[in-house]
Amino acid sequence: MKAEKLSYHLTAGLDDAIALNLAYEGTAKYMAGGQSLMPMMNLRLASSEEIIDITRIPELTLSHAIGEHFFIGAGITHAMIEDGKVHDPAQGYLRNVAHGIAYRSIRNKGTLGGSLAHADPAADWPTALLALGAVAVIKRPSGDVHIPLAEFQLGLMETCLGEADLLMGVLLPHLSTSARWSYVKFCHKVGEFAHSIGAVVLDTTQGLVNAVLGAAADKPVLLPRLSARLSQGMSLSELTTGAITALIEQDIEEQTSHDKSSYDFHLHKTMIIRAVTEVLKK
Ligand SMILES: Cc1cc2nc3c(=O)[nH]c(=O)nc-3n(C[C@H](O)[C@H](O)[C@H](O)COP(=O)(O)OP(=O)(O)OC[C@H]3O[C@@H](n4cnc5c(N)ncnc54)[C@H](O)[C@@H]3O)c2cc1C
Repeated sequence: MKAEKLSYHLTAGLDDAIALNLAYEGTAKYMAGGQSLMPMMNLRLASSEEIIDITRIPELTLSHAIGEHFFIGAGITHAMIEDGKVHDPAQGYLRNVAHGIAYRSIRNKGTLGGSLAHADPAADWPTALLALGAVAVIKRPSGDVHIPLAEFQLGLMETCLGEADLLMGVLLPHLSTSARWSYVKFCHKVGEFAHSIGAVVLDTTQGLVNAVLGAAADKPVLLPRLSARLSQGMSLSELTTGAITALIEQDIEEQTSHDKSSYDFHLHKTMIIRAVTEVLKK
């Protein structure tokens, strides 16, 4: 299937892109790598008569330190991160995540910002960056805003981006050298979207401890009890105790709609236990 008839606009400036979208009353769609937008339009799951190509906007491919944080532009591709062309402030975590996204031709084109804006609950960056405590940098017609990732994704393919808002990139912490992380995902076939993702970032030096479950609800979910328990310190032997299992089950039950006896519940629990085990073994 082919997309419906559309007009294509190539812009090279942030303000131009936003002004153009506003001229179409916010109905135009920005196109980054086109790896989600074009399939959605071909399948008639998304539609727009106006496409604004943002791949030539230089600010979107910047990556640099800003104070205590590291900025990665929305237009940076998965492949650039995978290949180490962009500094990884998270001790190899970003590179590892990028390497596991789809397959190479998708990673060559698909962008970090496109993935966050598309907000598929089974996609990798929304889960991975939530665990890292990332902050979205958004250019709005009214001015720039910073929104923690926990508040950025509102639900299934729904974000806080308003019409004509442009995601500029994300601010990430520089993880300590003593930080530990793990990112595990379950797919039936290599290269497909995950059926479950467990992500754990454990940087006690900075007080950054997050356990996140992806592909289990309408958006990635933080597991608050498990995160709090991990920040108090946990040993590998404790992980097999009934108390910790009960705590993980309580978190999953509360954050997703899966019944405790279901296959999905068991899968998500397994992925989280696997992610925590990996972290504690490091
Ligand atoms: C076969 C296949 C398998 C895949 N497997 C995986 C996988 O395993 N894991 C995974 O994470 N992803 C997967 N993807 C998705 C892929 O990673 C996409 O590249 C990504 O989700 C979207 O990035 P993009 O740059 O192509 O965005 P686009 O397709 O260009 O845009 C997606 C959406 O985001 C909006 N948008 C893009 N950039 C911005 C911006 N800067 N500001 C505001 N809005 C913006 C667009 O308007 C559009 O609505 C897969 C895709 C395919 C086709």
